[in-house]
Amino acid sequence: MNTRHSGIGMTSQRTRLRMVERLRRQGIRDEVVLGVMGEVPRHIFVDEALASRAYEDIALPLGFGQTISQPYIVARMSELVHAAAPLAKVLEIGTGCGYQTAVLARLAPQVYSVERLAALLSHARRHLRELRIVNVRLRHGDGQFGIPESAPFDAIVMTAAATHVPRILLEQLAVGGRMVLPVTERGRQHLAVIERTRQGYTENRLDQVKFVPLMPGTE
Ligand code: SAH
Repeated sequence: MNTRHSGIGMTSQRTRLRMVERLRRQGIRDEVVLGVMGEVPRHIFVDEALASRAYEDIALPLGFGQTISQPYIVARMSELVHAAAPLAKVLEIGTGCGYQTAVLARLAPQVYSVERLAALLSHARRHLRELRIVNVRLRHGDGQFGIPESAPFDAIVMTAAATHVPRILLEQLAVGGRMVLPVTERGRQHLAVIERTRQGYTENRLDQVKFVPLMPGTE
């Protein structure tokens, strides 16, 4: 057994179940997503000093100026992605610490995730390995370009806010698939869900949100 974070490990199952009850009260309805949120140990993904706060509904710092999204947002985005069933292949842009990636890996057989910061990607790799998650391919790159050679994807999730939806990503969406992302407009962000139909694309705007901005290039 892994001894890292063993202090919280003892109680984390119970704490997670309380988190799931809170997500339910906050309006998350998809039982599969709630089940996954109850299983994935979020404290593995955050700095040891913050592990005891991992199940609170707050965003936490990841270092490098980035944050791990609050559990509600991860559940909400996962629910929106999961509704695009059947999900064979999912693309995530903005791996961060890999927590959302781990949740997606339980909802889809194949997950690809792109992160622009090499240092964060190596943390994510370590966390996913620790949980023995093997159906994720991580890539260091600028996610705005997606992964053309692995397209089309049944769902694309972006976890950094864009001022416009990158056209290249929409082209990598399968017909019937959906993209979920935060979009910034006049200083405000909201979640957008874009669906690709045979005729073209439809867009719906949902909750107001707060994400770090999408940045160009790699570091
Ligand atoms: N889902 C992550 C959220 C991390 S915050 C988690 O739960 O931990 C958003 C992430 O998007 C950051 O890690 C940031 O470095 C990354 N990012 C920003 N612009 C990007 C781009 N163009 N391509 C890939 N990743 C990007």
